[in-house]
Amino acid sequence: MPRRHSRRPSRRLLAGLVALTTGVGALALAPASSGAEQRVPSGGRYNVKTATSTGYGGAVTSVDPEASRVGVEVLRRGGNAVDAAVATAAALGVTEPYSSGIGGGGYFVHYDARTRTVSTLDGRETAPATMPTDAFVDPATGEPYRFTPELVTSGVAVGTPGTLATWDTALRRWGTRSLSQSLRPATQLASRGFVVDQTFRDQTADNAARFRQFPATQRQFLPGNELPRVGSVMRNRDLAATYRLIARQGVKAFYTGPLAREIARTVQDPPTVRRPSLPVPPGYLTTADLAGYRVASQAPTRSTYRGYDVYGMAPSSSGGSTIGEALNILERHDLGALSEVDALHLYLEASALAFADRGQYVGDPRFTDVPLTDLLSDTFAAERDCEIDVDRAATKPVEPGDVDDYDGVCGDGTTERRPEQDTENISTTNLTTADRWGNVVEYTLTIEQTGGSGITVPGRGFLLNNELTDFSYDGVAADDPNRIQPGKRPRSSMSPTIVLRDGEPVLALGSPGGSTIITTVLQTLVNRLDLGMTIQQALASPRAAQRNSATVTAEPEFIALHGDALEEYGHTLTPSGDAFTSAAQIGAATAIELGPRGRLTAVSEPTRRGGGSALVVRPRR
Ligand code: GLU
Repeated sequence: MPRRHSRRPSRRLLAGLVALTTGVGALALAPASSGAEQRVPSGGRYNVKTATSTGYGGAVTSVDPEASRVGVEVLRRGGNAVDAAVATAAALGVTEPYSSGIGGGGYFVHYDARTRTVSTLDGRETAPATMPTDAFVDPATGEPYRFTPELVTSGVAVGTPGTLATWDTALRRWGTRSLSQSLRPATQLASRGFVVDQTFRDQTADNAARFRQFPATQRQFLPGNELPRVGSVMRNRDLAATYRLIARQGVKAFYTGPLAREIARTVQDPPTVRRPSLPVPPGYLTTADLAGYRVASQAPTRSTYRGYDVYGMAPSSSGGSTIGEALNILERHDLGALSEVDALHLYLEASALAFADRGQYVGDPRFTDVPLTDLLSDTFAAERDCEIDVDRAATKPVEPGDVDDYDGVCGDGTTERRPEQDTENISTTNLTTADRWGNVVEYTLTIEQTGGSGITVPGRGFLLNNELTDFSYDGVAADDPNRIQPGKRPRSSMSPTIVLRDGEPVLALGSPGGSTIITTVLQTLVNRLDLGMTIQQALASPRAAQRNSATVTAEPEFIALHGDALEEYGHTLTPSGDAFTSAAQIGAATAIELGPRGRLTAVSEPTRRGGGSALVVRPRR
């Protein structure tokens, strides 16, 4: 990828960084030719995880070796990037059932090599038509449900799933294979089973108390009422049968057929054990909501950054606008000419400003007037940049900008901030594909928090989302763009991103991680486009997230490297890790870099979430 800035982080710094993040000194410093392989023992078999692969003819990268293998096999047999993305996503529904699956939703970004255009599909879960605006208030007490445990493990939080409709729409529009063909490898995987690794076991342990409330969830994910053993094989015959049913009948089986009835019944009357130890409030989803679900096709967000065109996801996700705005602010500074810590200070400040505007203005555009043009305008960014002191961190939270009154000249450019609470959990999965024709897909999909609502549709093998917790928890205020409204999509942070140069894709990337998705993608772009890192280094590098809160959430490795220096600017850093998961890591990104003459560098995490798997069709020897 051509770089405007020649400054590189010192070798010593990178060596330290890589040793801290990957434990594999050679990986990130090596030229982008091959990756470290992690072999995970699996009852006589081996699951090989490859963090980086370079080669030709197409590539797939995801958090999971089985899913990436499924995708790359589709490419080898002549499928395109969309065929591979759907097959990989269906496989992730088997191996990453706590982060994705047909019970959830997501955002699909596609670069079409023939028309040289980027298009997006919004397959976000949607609030039921009968969901009241005060649905987060317990009718029995008149008090709000507690976020945990009531709301996260409830029918109330289940939105109409959009994932299957997204797969079907993407295949019909850009694919070369049918949905039925695309589900086949994942169906086989569900029948034959996958090897449980430590990450899967840990995720199950984090959810065990919730899962035990639901016999169908317990039966599938806590076999024998025990945590699945690392190295054991987990099959999901119910999901295999569900995929087969959909392959035979099409998406109507899900949206108007037998599955629709079962999903609605499950949400309205969650099938718990006889005496659940957690409250499980019922929800609102009906068969009419499922029958009425539509994927939204919409223009991507676009922002130019140092000669690149950065395409992202427009609302209902806040990913594209927030990353685009932060980049517009950062573009006003020559980050590549600064010391790394100066650049990181600006990254954190720009991110806080963009998050302030996200909170103030972004929601589902069908329900709220999102000033997207303003948020992505360079003049607006110029005025926002006035709030940054290059030597001193602003006191957070910062005020949002005033989209009704800006001229790019420093003055009083802010408006009063509406208080908001970040309740987004850390989950989700992400995949990137590219094919031999130059088509590219970046796809982030989720069931919201790890384990979603915890509710499995009995006999069907998949978990339902709890995505509606992404609506403002305490927001019934009329001016809150993300308040609950029937039929509305809750604001997302998912940020599938494709970067073009002169109309050609050069980089595609995305990540899970709740609201840290935005900062992970932004930081990775800065690492790659400004700080002289390779794409492997950019991904492996320790992360920090400033989401307009009093402190910066940072991985312990980031604090070790930069904490003291950033505290001198007035930043306060707190280690990542939250109440819901045992992980102290931010994100689990994937990326593909597209080089000259069709050369592809596919990258996944070397260690986060146990490491991912990046494969190419024809590896470079
Ligand atoms: N619900 C989150 C969002 O849409 C994604 C879930 C997560 O990554 O934790 O932004």
